[in-house]
Formats: sequence, structure tokens, C-alpha cells
Amino acid sequence: MALMEWANLKAHELRALAADDAVVIAPVAAMEQHGPHLPVQVDSRLATEVSHRAAQKAHKEQATVVLPVVWAGLSEHHMPFGGTITLNYETLLSIFRCIVDSVQRHGFNKVVILNGHGGNIDACKMIAQSLSLELEDVTIIAATYWLEAASRIAPILEDQSNVLHAGEAETSMMLQLEADLVDDSDLASHRTPADLSFLLAGEGSFRWRDLAAVTSNGVLGDPSKANAAKGEQLLEAASDAISDLITNPATWAPTTDLREDSTAGVPFHR
Ligand SMILES: [Zn+2]
Repeated sequence: MALMEWANLKAHELRALAADDAVVIAPVAAMEQHGPHLPVQVDSRLATEVSHRAAQKAHKEQATVVLPVVWAGLSEHHMPFGGTITLNYETLLSIFRCIVDSVQRHGFNKVVILNGHGGNIDACKMIAQSLSLELEDVTIIAATYWLEAASRIAPILEDQSNVLHAGEAETSMMLQLEADLVDDSDLASHRTPADLSFLLAGEGSFRWRDLAAVTSNGVLGDPSKANAAKGEQLLEAASDAISDLITNPATWAPTTDLREDSTAGVPFHR
């Protein structure tokens, strides 16, 4: 089955996919600095690749179509390093409100927001919640590919347990996909501690921090541990996990109002 890219299809083909109850993958990522060795497109390139591979795998069981990536996200914390375009949350929510409303009006009722940028994780969950309450009869899944694939990714990596900004994992995947855009002449010199604890306060609380407060060069982790073979393994692990998410009937199962009759009349959101 050919890859189902929304942008390549004719309107009547998309109407047929809607009639087939296809899942719409809407990738979202970022355009932001990725250290001295990687281009600013990394997150958008990787979210697109994972989406395409996942759709190809899932499509055998569940019709799936992939929108073009929303290439900017919430990247304020990367602005001090240059090269970064950031949206604010209200704008990202508005973009997805229009995207989900559009696809739903065309008959699609299953949407996966496929996120490829750490700064978007909480925003994507909030977008899924807000739009699920606003728009009836559409199921919206917020998935960050490396979180959905965490248990499959960990055994592949040496320096870190999951994807970190411009480190071993992202550098490996870019070496596999876009080697000409990677400056691998001195990867060892770009190493920084692979640590996200700067985002924590106390035992389990959050505080916002600019990335320039925790890394001198915009990297988290050790890109010298990267190689293309590892990148291919990571892309396969991530797309396997997203495909499994899409083809699992439980992902799309309707909810049931379990309340007693005495509370009937108070709204319940499916
Ligand atoms: Zn990244």
C-alpha cells in the first residue's frame, strides 16, 4: 500500500479515506537550534519520518493518512541560541483547532497529534483536552513519539535512556536520514550532561528554565555516541510504537457514562 500523504492526494481520494474511517496523523514539531552539528529542522524532519513510517505500517490494518508537519512549536527556551522560530501556546491551539475542525468536517473522526518536540509535550495534551471538549465525536490522541516508544528506545541507546535535544538519539536519526546536513567533524567536543533535572523543582514540581541556563552550546547529551545504524533502529522502534498505538482498538474505544441514574442530566463528555 502506497504511503498516504494528505498533500499528495486528490480531494476524492481523501473523501474515500474519510469514508474508510481513516486515522489522520497531524505531525507537529519545531524549527529550533540543535547545537553546532545539526540543522534547525531536526524535530520536524524526525516527526515527519516517524509519521510516514508509522502510517505505512498501520495502513495494512487501519487506513491512515499523514498531514504535512506543523513545523513550528513552543521553542521560547531555545531562542537565545538563534535560528529558532517560536509560536505561543494560543497560536498552536488555534492552528490545531482549525486543522481538527477541518478534517472532522470532511468526515475524519480519529486524529493523532504526533509530536516531535519536548517543548510541545504538555501543550499537545492540553490541545487534545480542549478540542475534545469543544468538538463532539472526534477522538484526539496526543502522542510524543519517544514517550510512546520509550521501552523500545532505551535498549538502543548508550548515553541516554531516551531522546534528548541534539544528543545521541537525534544525531543518530539525522545521520541516517540527512547525513549531508550533519557536521560530524568534532562531535565529541559538543558533549554536555544528559540531564533533564533542570526542569524540576523539589521532588516532582516544575519550573520553567531557559536552555541557555543549562547548556553552553544548545546540546543535551553526547552526540559522539551517534551512528546511522542506531538511527535506523530508533526510527523503526518509534514508528512501530506509533503504528501499534493506531491499530490498537482500545485507542479509539468509546467511553461509557457509568454514573447512576440519579445524576442523569449533568453533561458527560464522550
Ligand atoms: Zn530536537
